[in-house]
Amino acid sequence: MDYLRERQEYVDLYDLLTVKRCLRTINFWRDTFKKHSKDKELKGLTEEEKIEDFNKMLGMELYFTKIKEYERKEKTISEWVENDRVKQDKLDNTSRPRGVLCSKCNIEMKYITKHLEDYDNKPMRVLFFFECPKCKKRKGVYDNGKEYVSKPQLCKKCKKKFEVTHKKKGSVIIWTYKCKYCGHKEVEVDDFEKSHAKWEKEKLADKILLEKYRNEFCLSDKKGKEGIELLEALEVARVVKEEEAQKYGSSVYQRVMQLKKTTIVELEKMLNKVLKKNKYIKLTLEKPEIGQYVIVPFSVQDADSSRKGSKSSDNLEKIIKDTLKDTNWRLMDNYVLYRLGYLEGRLKGYEQEEDMMKLAGKEEKKEPKYKVSPEKRNKYEFHHMVQLARLVGQHEGIENLRKKRLEKEPEGFFLDESESTYSCGICGESTPGDKIWWNLDGLRCKDCWRNIKEGNIPPLKSRDDKVWLNDSSLSYNYSLHPSTRRKLVREGFLKRRELKRDNGSVYCTVYLVKENKEFFKKYPKKPKMKVTFVDSQHSE
Ligand SMILES: [Zn+2]
Ligand SMILES: [Zn+2]
Ligand SMILES: [Zn+2]
Repeated sequence: MDYLRERQEYVDLYDLLTVKRCLRTINFWRDTFKKHSKDKELKGLTEEEKIEDFNKMLGMELYFTKIKEYERKEKTISEWVENDRVKQDKLDNTSRPRGVLCSKCNIEMKYITKHLEDYDNKPMRVLFFFECPKCKKRKGVYDNGKEYVSKPQLCKKCKKKFEVTHKKKGSVIIWTYKCKYCGHKEVEVDDFEKSHAKWEKEKLADKILLEKYRNEFCLSDKKGKEGIELLEALEVARVVKEEEAQKYGSSVYQRVMQLKKTTIVELEKMLNKVLKKNKYIKLTLEKPEIGQYVIVPFSVQDADSSRKGSKSSDNLEKIIKDTLKDTNWRLMDNYVLYRLGYLEGRLKGYEQEEDMMKLAGKEEKKEPKYKVSPEKRNKYEFHHMVQLARLVGQHEGIENLRKKRLEKEPEGFFLDESESTYSCGICGESTPGDKIWWNLDGLRCKDCWRNIKEGNIPPLKSRDDKVWLNDSSLSYNYSLHPSTRRKLVREGFLKRRELKRDNGSVYCTVYLVKENKEFFKKYPKKPKMKVTFVDSQHSE
């Protein structure tokens, strides 16, 4: 018996298992689709959309399966080879017991063959078989000299010893088990030819399966390594996304949003006002040093001659600190110098978000849900999936903050000035944050929001062809030429809602589906590309 085989045989076996696993995944999704495509949760989707969604989920899982299989491949095959090498070694190099005697004739028996016994949780051992040259009786002896004792077959009814006989007819052996105590009888047929033929057939089927799908399911080294990198990057991405979402949702971040980014001119005005009131005059800001921070030396004179020395400087420090509390400026080293009614110090301005976070105070650290090693993290910090996750996490965190604010302002609110520019969900115009109205229905520019409030349009959400369309989707999805569109509107066949600015000019036109049922009957949507479910050849 040979345990250790050519390496390619192991590779083939591994690939075959991969192919079978992938096919099982496909079959699973296909069955799930059959069982659940009529579920009421999916009622809103067209047949094509359902198929597309299922295909997407299947595609994703299949891809991850392929990568995981590739990831384990080398190690698994090495383990298999090593296991077989150990067995082969044991079988080849265990020395055979000498001088085994026939218990009847008391002469030395002849060695015929050996067999490796390898049961779970038991050390491997080799069983040697001998035959008596005289009486032809056989005997098995283990490598440690212990004799093999066959377990007697027991009657299933009375548990007493069966009598076993066999008859051979060509390649068929018929075993008969007879109980002489209760009369119970069992017959077993071993057909070597038949079972060999079955085995051959299975082997051939496996070979065909492997040839058909190996290229599709078993990744090359290049594709496999790319896949593993992607999986690792996704692992880092998951951590980064969580962190980012938490950061934005934290109380510290909310404080950062409140810390105004005050310019030097605003700073000067702010200080002048409060200092004059407190009889500190002639505030002068000098040329700033620009580095990681903006550092501005300043001086001021105390007009109140009753305050001298630290009395004056302590007072000034306190005033400055209080004034700057809600800004991104701080009194450097918390300290001003007093000399004969003349005071000087330095102000430090923060711009970077990280620095602002520090200004805002320490965050109570939450135990992260996902963890990843620092090495992995460093390696993938700038992977595009991680960058994307960072943005998604930020978005999630910001959305959570906004949702919290919604509790107090249920209709929604204009976003903060500091937020970036967003596209309006209705007219699509890009609009600065403070002119974007936010609520759970989406982002609307201030004009679209006014049109909703004034009842010119219902509170539409972002583009949804089932509820409303605009000019360009009529042209694109319904092949409607603008001149035809105008004609149909004139004839009253197509009903539109015009969105107007404060000054009365029209900036966007909306067509509500429920107002134009007749139109949509006459002008059906251009058919999308036909999608079908995963090709039906994928079956075991
Ligand atoms: Zn004998
Ligand atoms: Zn019996
Ligand atoms: Zn708009």
